Amino acid sequence: MKSLRLITPYFSENRMTILLGLVCLVAVDILQLLIPRVIKFAVDDLTAIGVDAQGLGVYAAQIVALALGIGALRYVWRRCLIGTSRVVEERLRNRLFSHLQGLSAAYFDQAKTGDLMAHATNDVQHVRMATGMGLVALTDGIVLGTAAVGFMAAINLRLTLFVLIPMPMIIFCTRLLSRKMHRLYQETQATFADMTEVVRERIAGIRIVKAYTGEKRSKEALGRISEAYIERNLDLVRVTGFFFPMMMFFSNLSMVIVLFLGGRQTLRFTISPGDFVAFIAYIGLLTWPMMAMGWVTNLIQRGKASLDRIDRILSTAPGIVDPPDARPLRRSRGDIRFESVSFGYTGGEPVLADIQVDVSPGATVGIVGPPGAGKSTLLALIARRYDPDRGKVCLDGRDLRDIRLSDLHEQIAFVPQEPFLFTGTLAENILAGRSADEDKLPLAARDASLLATVEEFPDGFQTRVGEKGIMLSGGQKQRVALARALLRSAPVMLLDDPISQVDTETGARIVDTLEQMAPERTMIIVSHRLAALRFADRILVMESGRITESGTHEELAASGGFYARTFRLQRLEEEF
Ligand code: ADP
Repeated sequence: MKSLRLITPYFSENRMTILLGLVCLVAVDILQLLIPRVIKFAVDDLTAIGVDAQGLGVYAAQIVALALGIGALRYVWRRCLIGTSRVVEERLRNRLFSHLQGLSAAYFDQAKTGDLMAHATNDVQHVRMATGMGLVALTDGIVLGTAAVGFMAAINLRLTLFVLIPMPMIIFCTRLLSRKMHRLYQETQATFADMTEVVRERIAGIRIVKAYTGEKRSKEALGRISEAYIERNLDLVRVTGFFFPMMMFFSNLSMVIVLFLGGRQTLRFTISPGDFVAFIAYIGLLTWPMMAMGWVTNLIQRGKASLDRIDRILSTAPGIVDPPDARPLRRSRGDIRFESVSFGYTGGEPVLADIQVDVSPGATVGIVGPPGAGKSTLLALIARRYDPDRGKVCLDGRDLRDIRLSDLHEQIAFVPQEPFLFTGTLAENILAGRSADEDKLPLAARDASLLATVEEFPDGFQTRVGEKGIMLSGGQKQRVALARALLRSAPVMLLDDPISQVDTETGARIVDTLEQMAPERTMIIVSHRLAALRFADRILVMESGRITESGTHEELAASGGFYARTFRLQRLEEEF
C-alpha cells in the first residue's frame, strides 16, 4: 500500500469535511432505520384500533420529518464525501500532468500517448471512485448492514437468521457482475472514442476523402464502428438488465421467507403485525448494504491498481534535470561545441558517433546529409532534449548539463522539422506565451514571409488555426513556427529544414531574412535544399551519424563527395 501515501495528504487536509460527511452518512443510515419503527407503531396501533386520524397524522408527520432529515443530510454527505473525492481527483491529475511535463523527451519516445491519456483519465477516475463511492459503500455496508440486521434481530432472532439466507448471494453476484459491468462499460467507452476518432479523422481529411472518392469507404468504416458500438452497448444492457432483476429476486426471496415464517409467527402472536411490517421494510433497506459490500471490494481493488500505476509514473525521475546550484546564464555568446559526442536513442544503435564540432559565436553553420543521418538529433542535443551517452555539448564553454534548463531554453530559438500548432489563434501560436511581445508580431510575421498570408485572413492575427493548425497549409505552419522563433531574438537559432514545405520564391524570401539576421546570432540550419545554406560560413555533411565533410560551399562543391553530388542534382532540377 505504498502508493496510498499519494492521496493521504489530501485526506488529512480535508479531514474535517470527511468527518462531517461520515457523521451525516451514518445519521442518514440511522434515520432510515427509524422509518420502519414508526411504521411498526402505526400498524400496531391500527390493529389494536388504538389510533384516530390525528394519531395517524402524527405518525405521518414523523415520517415526513425523517424523510426531510434524510434528504438534507444526504445532500451534506454527498457534498463532503463525493466533493472530497473530486478534489483528490483534481489534485492527482494536476500532479500527474505536471510530472509528465517535467519528464524528458526519451520518456515520451517509449511511452504511448494513449496509455498516458488513460492514466490521466481512467486511472485517476478509479481513484476518485474508490475514495468517494468506495468510502460511502464501505460505511453503508458496515453501518446500515449491521444496524438493519441488529434492528431485525431485536424483533426476532430466528426469523432474522432465516431472512438472511439469500443475502450472501447479493454480495457474491454484485462482486461478480459489477466487475463484468465495469469491463463492458470501459469497452463501450473505448468504442465510443474510436467512433469519435473515425468521424474526426474523416472530417479533418474530407478533402482527401473526396479527392479519392472515398465517401463510400468512410461511410462503411463509420457503419462498422457504429455497429460495434451498439453491440458493446447491448452487451452492457444484457448484464445490467440481468443484474438488477436478480438483486430484486434475492431481496424478494427474503420477503417470501418473512411472509411465510414471519406471517406464521404473527398468527401465533410471537411477533406483532407492526413487527411483521417493519421486518419487510428492513429487508428493503438491507438490499443496498449487501450490494455495497459486494461492490466495495471491486472499487477498492480497482482504485488501488490505478493508484499503483500512477505511482509508477510519479516515481519516474526526469532524465534531464536542472543542475544543483547552477550559475545563471543571462545571454549566451552563442559559442557551441560538441566534444567527442556519441548518442543513441533508448536501447538503440548509436545515432551520433564521435561528433566533434566547434561553432564560434555569430557563425552560421549548415548541415546536410541523407535522411536518417542524425541531423535533427544533433539539433535536439543542443536544445538538451537528450543528453549525450559519451562526450559533452557545451555552450559558451559550459557543459549543457551545468546550465539551468530555463536559462538554456531562453538562449535557443528552435524551428522544428514538423511544427506543432496548438488550437487557438495565429497570434497565440506565434507568441507562445510571450504576450509582452505582441507589438513585435507584424515584424516577426513579415520576416517569416507570413504577413501577406495573415493579411488575407479576415481576422488577421486573430484567425483561429483549428486543431493542430488544420486550417493552415504545411508551408504556412512552417512559417508560423519560424515567426515564433524570430520573435524571440535568442542568441542561438536552430532551424530544422525551414524551407522544406514552401515554394521556391517564398523559400528564397525566408533565406534572405535569415541571412539578414545571421550576423547577430549563432545559426545552425539543417536543410536538404542547399539554397537555404548559401550564406553559411561553413557546411557540415552528416552521413550515418558521422560528420564526413566540412568546409565552405566552394570547397565542398569541388570535393566530389555527397555535397557536390547533391549540389549538381539540385542545380539540374532548377534548370529544368
Ligand atoms: P535526420 O534528421 O538526419 O533525418 P534523425 O536525427 O531524425 O535524422 O534520425 C537519426 C536516426 O535516429 C534515424 O535512424 C531515426 O530513425 C532515429 N530516430 C530519430 N528520432 C528517434 C526517436 N525519437 N527514437 C528512436 N529513434 C529515433
